[in-house]
Amino acid sequence: MNLELFSDPQIVKKLAKAIQTEAAKLKKEIKIMHICGTHENSIIRFGLRDLLPANIRVIAGPGCPVCVTSSRDIDAVINLALKENVCITTFGDMLKVPGSKLSLHGAKSHGADIKMVYSIYDAIELSKNSNKPVVFFACGFETTAAGTAAAILDLKLPSNFFIYSVHKYTPDGVYALLKSGKIDMDGLILPGHASAISGLRTYERFAFEFHIPSVAAGFEAADILLAILLIVKQINSNQAKVENTYNRVINYEGNTKAQQIMDRVFSLGEAIWRGLGTIEHTGYILKDEFAYVDATKHFNFEYPNHYIEHKKGCRCRDVILGKAQPTDCPLYAKHCTPYNPVGPCMVSDEGTCKNFYDGGIGE
Ligand code: SF4
Ligand code: SF4
Repeated sequence: MNLELFSDPQIVKKLAKAIQTEAAKLKKEIKIMHICGTHENSIIRFGLRDLLPANIRVIAGPGCPVCVTSSRDIDAVINLALKENVCITTFGDMLKVPGSKLSLHGAKSHGADIKMVYSIYDAIELSKNSNKPVVFFACGFETTAAGTAAAILDLKLPSNFFIYSVHKYTPDGVYALLKSGKIDMDGLILPGHASAISGLRTYERFAFEFHIPSVAAGFEAADILLAILLIVKQINSNQAKVENTYNRVINYEGNTKAQQIMDRVFSLGEAIWRGLGTIEHTGYILKDEFAYVDATKHFNFEYPNHYIEHKKGCRCRDVILGKAQPTDCPLYAKHCTPYNPVGPCMVSDEGTCKNFYDGGIGE
């Protein structure tokens, strides 16, 4: 497949023109939400918002797994590291995310043993060479949850290796928010990688119940513009269905093998999403059969009664819900930068504030 076609300037121009034509028929300004941090990255990188007419706004939703990890979970693993002499391993971005008082990185200076890994396999290797318990702080949506489940099934895990799962299931999170009326949008760009696992079937209820046109998109400029065009066309013809412009990766049923592996290892229970609260059926929880690797069953986790999800002035909650742009936050690019993030949205390459900052927007 010639991927260059998907960022060919002529094709991009044609799509932008087609969107302008279709947008002229709209009866009101519309908001199209994407729920994938990598989509935000592409939108900034290709300057796609500048190609859109004034009556179409593309907003970012809860698409960054690091941003939606609750302070409660970060505080809990920091406590565990400090009080029970456990080594906590996790991805680099997670180390910088602020908890109520400290980030994992900050906790190191208080004596916590925190190590960055690139994958669960690194954490397993590390535990083989360690004489103390090693906990993998497992975050991410269905893409990474599938990897965690596969590692548990495939490998004989060392007896000092444990998992603390804060993996989250995207579709039901967005569904619950739509139902609660907290999210205001007219169309949805479906996530690229996560949908490859969950499939498009699960998004059909968005179309039926909320009359939201939903289109799956890849990460090139033409992929995203085509998805926007199809959404605007659906709105103009008063339709709401699920379409797929990324059939080179995503299909209707999703990756059924990965789904089976996850079903064997996890059940879905409640999870706390930073800024969004507790949402049923969105947390990947290890089944009893895998209790031997479940950190919550082995250690005395102390969950703080009070935890601070957002520092004073931080508007991450509104950013995650698509109600504010990073530039609406008084701290943006002044007190909050990737070098000194006040809120989680400024930490990872999938965070909306970090993407705006790296794109030089509003500095
Ligand atoms: S996990 Fe995948 S689908 Fe989700 S935000 Fe990241 S890149 Fe997008
Ligand atoms: S700029 Fe910083 S403080 Fe403001 S919303 Fe973004 S991450 Fe939060």
